[in-house]
Amino acid sequence: MEHKQSTVTEVSLDPRKWDELRATGHRMLDDMFNYLQEIRSQPVWQSVPDASRKALNAGIPQQGTETAQVYDEFLQHILPYNLGTVHPRFWGWVCGTGTPGSMLADMLASGMNTSPSFGDHADIYVEKQVLSWSKEMLGFPQEGSGLLTTGASMANLLALTVARNHFNANIRGKGLRNTEGQLTIYGSTETHNCVHKAIELLGIGSEHYRKIPVNASYRIRPDLLQDAIEEDIRNGYRPFCIIGNAGTVNTGAIDDLELLSSIAKQYNCWFHVDGAFGAVLNILPEFKDKLKGLSLADSLAFDYHKWFYVNYDAGCVLIRDAAAHRDAFAVNASYLQKHERGVIAGNDHFNHLGIELSRGFRALKVWMSFKEHGLDKYRQLIRQNLQQAKYLASLVRAHEEMELLAPVDMNIVCFRFVADGLDNETLNEMNKEILMRLHEGGIAVPSFTVLNGSYAIRAAITNHRSRQEDFEILVNEVARLGHLLIKENFAITTSNKVAS
Ligand SMILES: *Cc1c(COP(=O)(O)O)cnc(C)c1O
Repeated sequence: MEHKQSTVTEVSLDPRKWDELRATGHRMLDDMFNYLQEIRSQPVWQSVPDASRKALNAGIPQQGTETAQVYDEFLQHILPYNLGTVHPRFWGWVCGTGTPGSMLADMLASGMNTSPSFGDHADIYVEKQVLSWSKEMLGFPQEGSGLLTTGASMANLLALTVARNHFNANIRGKGLRNTEGQLTIYGSTETHNCVHKAIELLGIGSEHYRKIPVNASYRIRPDLLQDAIEEDIRNGYRPFCIIGNAGTVNTGAIDDLELLSSIAKQYNCWFHVDGAFGAVLNILPEFKDKLKGLSLADSLAFDYHKWFYVNYDAGCVLIRDAAAHRDAFAVNASYLQKHERGVIAGNDHFNHLGIELSRGFRALKVWMSFKEHGLDKYRQLIRQNLQQAKYLASLVRAHEEMELLAPVDMNIVCFRFVADGLDNETLNEMNKEILMRLHEGGIAVPSFTVLNGSYAIRAAITNHRSRQEDFEILVNEVARLGHLLIKENFAITTSNKVAS
């Protein structure tokens, strides 16, 4: 084809000088490698200074700036003050650590700027392959369905939507007000708050979410679950779903999934499992017994960005009944009609399996990570984290001024500083202060929870960079700060109150 020389000068967002961008890009890559390589010598967290807060509050730029200069602003205002999950002493909430390889995969995915939503292109096949691996690792049948999501929050929402719509096929068309009987749903009091949100979003209403009490090990009480279901049936409610936990966020408790599955069968309920981080234990033969019942679930939510160490964001939902999955979401649209050939040929749309149309190619970083490391390496690392939790628990037990606040069956350790003559309220305030000083000092980032009225310092170990010495630092620093607070007469002067 021949083209005439254009007479208009179109603009584009590509660089005018590729060489300059190339040099800046290579510098970015080197800087990030250095950052990750040397992260151990850096503070875990630093408060965003006023100058950076100000810079990050400026108005929209009308004119552009050289990439190198924008990058300098990133280096100055953003990089040093990020959350800190890549640090070997970050154990807050349940955060993944990320890997350099996964970072590179994200760059490649972003470079292609592709979207695995519909059509016939390689990224669709990568996501299918990752879903197939997911089913294999978690004991789901290959003919089951699934979707990669932003995280377990979205995965739980999608799964519960399938559960709701499967229960009554009229819900999609008629809405909840025109379906018979009020739906009720069941999970333990330890279930994650994203499930609470999902139930509200789905129009079931949190008042119809029965939060069943747990036993001393923070596992759901099946007897009370059954009582609640029976009572609801007597009162004309429609129980439709039971949620089990494979690793609760507070303590890592695993519900009796096998028993929950049989109770669900008995009452004709959907059985959903939130296994955001705990489900990964299914790849360890020694956990097969504890997780028996995981593979009986109708649906499962879990994360790649937590205990599989893949970079944010990457979650996954698996649904046993592929037809139920599709039936919950599929809406045909003329502009998305599948063709015989071309880009829009081939596979059933991922768009029929969830809410989002445009989606990031997060499958690539999962795919590349598993290829780079192999499943055996993940087994080794997850065991290492479990061992580290046991080690931290042993340090706490051996220390006269430390108290373990929950059994350590998994990778979560909840403990606190204790001293003679201090009441529980004072201890709560003191441990909260210790935690904030650990953060402010850039020493370590555990998080916290309140267990039976006691404020707990909580380490969730999903970190592939942690070493034994890091846990020694944590315990020593908690003791040092505890003594410092006693010296400062903290108990008398404080006004911090811990909500239980
Ligand atoms: C983290 C977590 C969630 C939410 O997952 P996101 O990936 O953060 O959306 C749900 N349940 C449990 C048990 C979790 O630990």
